[in-house]
Amino acid sequence: MSLKVPSLDKLVSELSKLPGIGEKTAQRLAFYILKSSPSLNLGLRESLKGVAENIHPCPVCFSYTEESSECRICLDPSRDHDKVCVVEDPSDIARIESSGAFHGKYHVLLGSISPLEGIQPEDLKIQDLVQRIDSSSEIKEVILALDADLEGDTTALYLSRLLSEKVRITRIAHGVPFGTDIDYIDQRTLGRALENRVEL
Ligand SMILES: [Zn+2]
Repeated sequence: MSLKVPSLDKLVSELSKLPGIGEKTAQRLAFYILKSSPSLNLGLRESLKGVAENIHPCPVCFSYTEESSECRICLDPSRDHDKVCVVEDPSDIARIESSGAFHGKYHVLLGSISPLEGIQPEDLKIQDLVQRIDSSSEIKEVILALDADLEGDTTALYLSRLLSEKVRITRIAHGVPFGTDIDYIDQRTLGRALENRVEL
């Protein structure tokens, strides 16, 4: 569906590489960007440039940072030093932070163990986590906030075997989402929710 306007076609092609954006949406976005005010264009261009040029992984937790060394969460002295929440991706941190329920530190694995996709423990930031725990006398609990799927379960099992003699290992509860009718929950989620039941 070329528009025969090379620069616009290129923008559509780049936008359609984004997750969840098909060619039609990419075209709509491209036309919107083209028609919109120069300030939006400039803002978009500068923010894409900023992301590409200024962001790098934190050497401690492997989240993203713009700081010259560690990220703001790693550097924050007011956060609990004894709890480390292990997540698969940096984007998971944003979601946990917005819940306001966790005040410790993080460690990003940059994926999860998946034998089917050929992702082994050594492909992830697992050894870095072990070293982090070994070199710190402060870390007492590792909270696994991994996806509730086969890869998440495999990774959780691997980490609990690897770390259980060093620290307390917990995993976030998986169960019935808030505001959901029991009738609409799949068997696996309901089974997990029953396993994770709490005393009232
Ligand atoms: Zn960090």
